Amino acid sequence: MVDLAQLQFSEVEKAALRIKGVAHHTPVLTSTTANRLARAQLFFKCENFQRSGAFKFRGAYNALSKFTEDQRRAGVLTYSSGNHAQAIALSASLLGMAASIIMPHDAPALKVAATKGYGAEVIVYDRYKQNREEIGRRLAQQRGMTLIPPYDHPDVICGQGTAAMELFADTGPLDVLLVCLGGGGLLAGSALAAAAMSPDCRIIGVEPEAGNDGQQSLRSGAVVHIAVPDTIADGAMVTHLGAHNFEVIRREVDDIVTVSDDQLVATMRFFAERMKMIVEPTGCLAAAAALQGVVAVEGKKVGILVSGGNVDLARFARLVG
Ligand SMILES: *Cc1c(COP(=O)(O)O)cnc(C)c1O
Repeated sequence: MVDLAQLQFSEVEKAALRIKGVAHHTPVLTSTTANRLARAQLFFKCENFQRSGAFKFRGAYNALSKFTEDQRRAGVLTYSSGNHAQAIALSASLLGMAASIIMPHDAPALKVAATKGYGAEVIVYDRYKQNREEIGRRLAQQRGMTLIPPYDHPDVICGQGTAAMELFADTGPLDVLLVCLGGGGLLAGSALAAAAMSPDCRIIGVEPEAGNDGQQSLRSGAVVHIAVPDTIADGAMVTHLGAHNFEVIRREVDDIVTVSDDQLVATMRFFAERMKMIVEPTGCLAAAAALQGVVAVEGKKVGILVSGGNVDLARFARLVG
């Protein structure tokens, strides 16, 4: 069941202390060209420069640092299409524990290689035929390992919230905060930080057009399940929001909007050409909403979470070429 006591800003603050000195305090970048395009003041929180290449390191390290001695000895297990896998693998190696990761057969090669490179065991499953949550639960039980899912967990949510916490600490209050949305770990965590640090800020989640389950869920008031969405945003190919995530999202989030794959590609190109950054497709969701006119931001101070930068160079070239 959802434990509301674990979903509070005070828990985000505790997470910030746990990851301090281990996770990077990532830079907030600005661009005159971006401001001109959006007719607003944009602040890009660059989690593509986070350890392991995405914000997921925050939630993973926070969750693993809370393990008891017994849990550490048995190790951690998770399922992920990529960035959470890498984050858990790196966190486990830093904390000296074993990690087993269940990854889809079609996960990006770079993400699989990086996960193995951090010393984790990779177990492959078919995302169109098998249920990863079921496999995860069964294996965790068989092996006595602790399952840390990619988004539906208070320690993961509060860890992810430290990115927006740093952003508000650096910029002060904002008018709008745009957040990339998959299962809702980053959005729920950001919402906890925004509610405490910038209470008048509009919080908007941005998901791929091909999979607007979050938008449907917010509008209908219950978690909506969809088929695996067909999108280049591989970090947001989820079928439903998490229960913990939705609890926070329905309370704190003002709107959820969608962007198309073409808008993601245009944004990847913008980041590369104008800001000299490689951002993966999923990492462009929030920025695309501001730069492509999906959300009205004119004259506003806008925070944008750039969530990750892990994309094979060949795939990047194919997409922007
Ligand atoms: C996981 C991920 C997301 C989505 O995050 P959720 O917490 O699942 O909503 C967005 N961008 C990147 C780069 C990711 O790795």
